[in-house]
Amino acid sequence: MAAKILIVEDEEKLARFTELELQHENYEVRKAFDGRAALEEALRNDYDLILLDIMLPGLSGMEVLRRLRQEKNTPVILLTARDSVMDKVAGLDAGAVDYITKPFAIEELLARIRVALKFRSAGAEKTAAAEEGVLTWQALRLDDVRKTVSWDGQRIALTNREFLMLKTLLENRDIVLSRETLLDRVCGYDYVGETNIVDVYVRHLRAKIDEVYGVKMLETVRGAGYVIRSE
Ligand code: CA
Repeated sequence: MAAKILIVEDEEKLARFTELELQHENYEVRKAFDGRAALEEALRNDYDLILLDIMLPGLSGMEVLRRLRQEKNTPVILLTARDSVMDKVAGLDAGAVDYITKPFAIEELLARIRVALKFRSAGAEKTAAAEEGVLTWQALRLDDVRKTVSWDGQRIALTNREFLMLKTLLENRDIVLSRETLLDRVCGYDYVGETNIVDVYVRHLRAKIDEVYGVKMLETVRGAGYVIRSE
């Protein structure tokens, strides 16, 4: 079955060109030319992937993404003319799976689309069988071999230390870990610094996971530390 892709792009010539290329690859394609129409369309119909321009009339691409995430986990690749690290970070934080800067080579876009669609099917399988090196919690999947974290197939960009912290908590599910223990695991035993750096990483993880996906995964145990409980 052909994957359904929504192209959100106000430059109609570029939208049309991308549409033709995607149709050539046998994708089923629809287009939206402004933020509001895009959000409506993305909520009304189920797409396998959305290509979302950031600079849009009506609602910005980022706003479309934020509102979409309140309802749905449709994978999103952001398109932008601005090669800005801030956009990239904000976009990934808001739940985009990937990011491509315009002007892009169509081959690169096609490659990224294939990867994004692969993540989606990986998330959709929801296999109960434990895979080697994979830790899960609800729709969260931490792959220790590939060093990736995703939620329902959508990649979550974490720093090394955020990744280590999440992994430690998932491995020790239902065990309250003190700040000192977490600090040792995440920063190494010879780290000399404030234990409140642990709180900073917890805040980052909550911003990237709990707040984006509307869950309470990382629990604070007052005076003791942090824990991830079994679902
Ligand atoms: Ca635009």
